[in-house]
Amino acid sequence: YIEFKNINKFYGDNHVLKGINLKIEKGQFVTLLGPSGCGKSTLLRSLAGLEAVTDGQIILDGEDITTKEPKDRNIGMVFQQYSLFPNMTVEENLAFGLKLKKLPQEEIHERISKAIKIVELEGKEKAYPSNLSGGQQQRVALARGIVMQPKVLLLDEPLSAIDAKLRKSLQLSIREIHDKLGLTTIFVTHDQDEAMVMSDVIHLFHDGVIEQSGTPVEVYTRPVTSFAASFIGNYN
Ligand code: ATP
Ligand code: MG
Repeated sequence: YIEFKNINKFYGDNHVLKGINLKIEKGQFVTLLGPSGCGKSTLLRSLAGLEAVTDGQIILDGEDITTKEPKDRNIGMVFQQYSLFPNMTVEENLAFGLKLKKLPQEEIHERISKAIKIVELEGKEKAYPSNLSGGQQQRVALARGIVMQPKVLLLDEPLSAIDAKLRKSLQLSIREIHDKLGLTTIFVTHDQDEAMVMSDVIHLFHDGVIEQSGTPVEVYTRPVTSFAASFIGNYN
């Protein structure tokens, strides 16, 4: 499992994470929910190793990974924007990280075809991102995360650029991928509706602190602060 121990993060004078303590059980689908600027991406990036914390510890499966290189963490991350390489085909986009890992060609092929199946993009292997719809591009981005076979998958608002209807179906496919692969998934969103539908556990963020944690039903039916009540209360 993952544990954040008293994590603080400053950007200059800006105290962005204020003593975060958080445990995430193996295999859970966990959502960090909160308004813009509250520190969700910063926490996720610190877990991926893309951002150093000011103090505190991050533990993964009993090991202190606070200062470990991103590539040694076995954590996959999919970002807000698709961030695909436009000059590479779907296949080449997926192969990129695997080649960096110097995996044998055969295994690269195997992993790619498996990932393509999971996100249901068979037949699109040779397509370029510009010839795919937004939803398809987002699924390529997801495939690029899972092809690395991470222990933990971090999804930072992966659906924010997708229209409402497609969003619904991608919410389901993300949850299915999580269940199928037995991943631990940490999903970031500011959309309470999305959090309600997808999560085992929701951690409600507000201004650098976790204001409330619980199942969707708990958080919805028993908000513990007025912020929680008003933020979650928008759900209908
Ligand atoms: P959003 O929902 O808009 O993505 P967020 O909850 O992910 O918001 P963060 O991106 O974690 O928020 O930002 C938290 C705070 O840290 C904000 O005040 C932001 O301006 C600041 N911040 C984030 N990244 C940096 C950076 N690289 N340098 C300086 N300040 C930053
Ligand atoms: Mg963010």
